Amino acid sequence: MSRLEHASARYRSLRCSAIAAELPELLAQAEDNALSYLAFAELLAEREHHAREHKRLTANHRRARLPADKRLEAFDYRHQSTITKRQVNALLDFGFIDNRENLVFIGPPGVGKTHLAIGLANRALAAGYKVLFRSALELVEELELAEMKGELKKHIAQLTRFDLLIIDELGYLPMSRQARYNLFQLVHSFYEYRSLILTTNKDFTDWGEFFHNDNVAVPIIDRVIHHSHIYVLGGESYRLKQKTTG
Ligand code: ADP
Ligand code: MG
Repeated sequence: MSRLEHASARYRSLRCSAIAAELPELLAQAEDNALSYLAFAELLAEREHHAREHKRLTANHRRARLPADKRLEAFDYRHQSTITKRQVNALLDFGFIDNRENLVFIGPPGVGKTHLAIGLANRALAAGYKVLFRSALELVEELELAEMKGELKKHIAQLTRFDLLIIDELGYLPMSRQARYNLFQLVHSFYEYRSLILTTNKDFTDWGEFFHNDNVAVPIIDRVIHHSHIYVLGGESYRLKQKTTG
């Protein structure tokens, strides 16, 4: 084993896999640029740090399970004029996540609620936050499964490891009383501890009805609305516009 191979193997055993893999190139770079000892030490540290950061963000992105690749850059504010770019940009310092506040996007189908939620998720992930995307239907199903196994609390605790949970399309389908109860447990665990983004076609005035005016639903609504930024989106469906003009 050459000295270089030996040094690489040492770095690998110390779990500095980026340095281990790129040691010949890093050495060549140091020689070509006549780097000082300190500059070389910095180069190695930065390379490893950068690789780990990239790995962490990539893993977070995969775990987020975003259903589509939607970017805020592609959002057309001329079509959707009931929310402004300024309003959306104001969210990008992620104070809402740091302060455990919620966002609620309300509006009819096709007006860009899910697009905005995924676009914000992408930016939050790039900023290092842990995000999880779930449709309301998927979430209700997985909570039901956990509840049947007697693992509802444990499952919810796992969900609270994310900084931000997106619940998409809440209110589209009716929910059983047990489903409402499970959801209440989740919202209760997130309250003032983690952030939610909800997209829904229901105005809050309809929510009581949607949740059958029961004593489980009212506290859910109350907790979600408290500390939340609510955006009511209107206008025409973007899907419909594309059908008719494109
Ligand atoms: P919603 O969740 O409100 O039903 P979506 O966000 O799924 O609507 O939007 C439907 C489709 O139209 C998606 O493909 C989305 O990317 C696109 N879309 C909606 N609004 C806009 C917009 N203002 N600019 C660009 N694309 C949009
Ligand atoms: Mg949607």
